[in-house]
Amino acid sequence: MQQVANKTEQRRYAALKTVEVHSDQEAGQLEKTVDKLRTERQHLIFRMGDKMHRELRLQRVINPDFAEYSEAILDIDKKIYKLGKEQAMRLEAEQTSCQQCGSKILNGSKFCGSCGTPVQQLKKTIEETRDCRYCAETVPASAQFCPCCGSTRE
Ligand SMILES: [Zn+2]
Ligand SMILES: [Zn+2]
Repeated sequence: MQQVANKTEQRRYAALKTVEVHSDQEAGQLEKTVDKLRTERQHLIFRMGDKMHRELRLQRVINPDFAEYSEAILDIDKKIYKLGKEQAMRLEAEQTSCQQCGSKILNGSKFCGSCGTPVQQLKKTIEETRDCRYCAETVPASAQFCPCCGSTRE
């Protein structure tokens, strides 16, 4: 009994001492540690959310509580996909060279500036496409995963 009381006292004393001993420097160190833990926590929450989002998309988890987030994320994914496609098309157009004469074709040209071949004819044959069952984006028919939303084909 005596020992238990002593231990409690000791603990109380140690706690008091800890509070007293904290200088400003130590308080700063504590704050840093808390910040670090908060950041770590945010990363974990982010990763958990990302994983959950993927599960929802693959329909391995069905939970209407997440619909609000899922739809908002899907909206953003569609925008990113669209902008990425536009960017890719722009780059492709900039890099196009005439297959007839090899001259570089300026962005937006309808005809080759050197030999007059219509640019339309120079475009690659358009790949076969399908509509994603989840996001309804037009995606390459051969894609196993939707390049827009990441859902599976079937
Ligand atoms: Zn040409
Ligand atoms: Zn999709």
